[in-house]
Amino acid sequence: MNLSIEQGPIRPPSEAASLLLRLTRNCPWNKCAFCRSYKGKTFSRRSIKEIKNDIDTVVEMCRLLYKTSWESGFDGQINRQLLTQVYQSGDYQLFNIAIWLINGGKTVFLQDANSLVEKNAVIVEILEYLKEQLPSVERITTYARSSTLARKSVEDLNALSLAGLSRIHVGMESGSDEVLKFIEKGATARQHIEAGRRVKESGISLSEYIILGLGGKRWAREHALESARVLSIINPDFIRFRTLTIAKGTALEQKTLSGEFEAEAEEEIIRGEKLLIEHLDGIQSNLVSDHSMNLLEEVKGKLPNDKLAILSVIDRFLSLPENEKQNFILGKRWGLYRVMNDMLDASQHARVSAAIAMLKKEHKLEETISFLKNQVI
Ligand code: SF4
Repeated sequence: MNLSIEQGPIRPPSEAASLLLRLTRNCPWNKCAFCRSYKGKTFSRRSIKEIKNDIDTVVEMCRLLYKTSWESGFDGQINRQLLTQVYQSGDYQLFNIAIWLINGGKTVFLQDANSLVEKNAVIVEILEYLKEQLPSVERITTYARSSTLARKSVEDLNALSLAGLSRIHVGMESGSDEVLKFIEKGATARQHIEAGRRVKESGISLSEYIILGLGGKRWAREHALESARVLSIINPDFIRFRTLTIAKGTALEQKTLSGEFEAEAEEEIIRGEKLLIEHLDGIQSNLVSDHSMNLLEEVKGKLPNDKLAILSVIDRFLSLPENEKQNFILGKRWGLYRVMNDMLDASQHARVSAAIAMLKKEHKLEETISFLKNQVI
């Protein structure tokens, strides 16, 4: 029996262990200058029947896994041996469902880029069916755009919350209207605030994403200060940092090549990050840097209590001697370091130093760092 469901290309890193269920295909906006997630792909809605069929298929896959477990002598347990067996069979979707079950089968992420563009009644029907068919599910999350959310009433969002939607991930990217316009976000700071407030009021948990460096050299200060201002008004449950990478084939790559956009160097981006955090005021958000594209993944904690500790991580980096800063930046972008303490490994440190000496001789250090950074998407 070949069981499979339709899935989209991306999900937030925090949903790595979640079941991915596709509600709509691609992005109905698809214009953000830095984004290539759905480039060349047309947005479409999936029918309720298609989505319910996928839920039924997941139920079937779960049954099959438990049956296989009994037949293989694992007493109905989804264990490591069963995982290996499923992996070796080459059925990677079944393997992912097995991983989901081993993690408790508790979380679901609704794909793709803006699920809330769908009618409320449709989402409610899907959420109710999902919870009915997969009763182990405790958390259901999705992406949504602020411009879409700002058109939903608190009552609409409250209905989604009651039906089981637990968290919405919003790509705010910046709180600066200049930056938002330049990158064609299709949302203003005012809409971000309105959308964020409504989500919070409805009882749904809110994750706001900010892209460090998105203001470039021109709007560096405004990007930091306005993002801090907007976040401070919204008081989201999570603030998640991403760092700008300029991907091939994007409008931002064109703007960079034409000189319209000038990207900041790594250290400038970190100074902007510091400025932003310093100006976050009166909020109780969890600050997270949960993506390897962030230079300082250790920048995390609960505001306001951890603010000084978070800033001290940034200050530790900024106070490094110039050659050590370069060592960390290249080591991180090369994938040899994850966090600053990884520089304490003398052999890795020496390897990075040797590479820096060679790249400097060839005048290729900055170019190499930028190349390596833009490989991480
Ligand atoms: S809304 Fe999201 S998915 Fe759509 S283009 Fe913008 S960043 Fe990409």
